[in-house]
Amino acid sequence: MSGADARLRDRRRHDTMAAVIKHGDGVEGIEVGEIEVPVAVPGHAVVATIATGICGTDVHIAHDEYAHERPVVMGHEVLGRVARVGSVDDDHWIGALVALETYFSACERCEMCRAGRRNLCADRRSIGSFRNGGFASEVLVPVINLHRVPDAAGDIDGVLSEPLACVAHCLLDPPVVQPGDRVLVTGPGAMGQLSAQVAQASGATVTLAGLPADAGRLSVASELGIRTTMAPVPDESFDVVIECSGAEPAAAAALRAVRRGGRYVQVGIFGRDVTVPLDAVLYKELTVTSGFASTPASWRAAMRLVESGAVTLGPLITRRVALTEFHDALDAAARGEGIKTVVLS
Ligand SMILES: [Zn+2]
Repeated sequence: MSGADARLRDRRRHDTMAAVIKHGDGVEGIEVGEIEVPVAVPGHAVVATIATGICGTDVHIAHDEYAHERPVVMGHEVLGRVARVGSVDDDHWIGALVALETYFSACERCEMCRAGRRNLCADRRSIGSFRNGGFASEVLVPVINLHRVPDAAGDIDGVLSEPLACVAHCLLDPPVVQPGDRVLVTGPGAMGQLSAQVAQASGATVTLAGLPADAGRLSVASELGIRTTMAPVPDESFDVVIECSGAEPAAAAALRAVRRGGRYVQVGIFGRDVTVPLDAVLYKELTVTSGFASTPASWRAAMRLVESGAVTLGPLITRRVALTEFHDALDAAARGEGIKTVVLS
């Protein structure tokens, strides 16, 4: 089908929709405004959003601590239904409940792309930072980024698919947790909660650590059967530490808590240079790993974890807001309130 035909199929192309648009510096540069609805060009789908999660990365983008291009519609943790497609071949997607892999494009030519590691392409462009994202009624994505959300998931649980895929990339590809491992997870936000669940599903004995201010978030984990603590943890007492807070003191504590010959996994983003006792890596011969964003393999793993019930997502959604409440919800997320706030369409 030609581009012109695709546009003819798109009867609503002159309509506008509400969206959270970052157009200037800082939080003041974000407005809830109107933009044109997207056109389903060939190879692409327009997804009508159901819910979009507010992520720590959104907080970093809001404060200009994470690369993005303006103006852009923020939001990359999207659950929705396929509304329109740009190619007849993709008609079978229409109506499907989907979560979205976030890459809008990669160069497909660099060493990383050719090695199947598009998440590391320097020219990768993702929704919510370089292409219009999910805090809007509709979002345009390449069809290859659509992932069907398993029926097993509750109403809007699938909104956590993207963070779960990122955790799966950090922890499962390759596996960093062995059955029986003592695992410490620092930071009980969404990434910490998901990491704790995935590590537990991998057969580890997991402790999720937080600060006194995290009591509410830790109680959610407790109710899901995860051991929690607000106390300092003993030195060299864990086989694997998974740092999910992106906070300097937590990273330092995790480097002390891991045993000699153990493993340190960085999941959280600091958003700035930090000071940590990096000599621990040498003295203890630590293996340090991480994962940047997600890969098709980690998405498949994430969807299987949801389908099998190995992870429980619903209780992690602690607040639901309308698009008009975005600024307030973003502030609350920046203060670490709740676990996952989602914007409902
Ligand atoms: Zn590339």
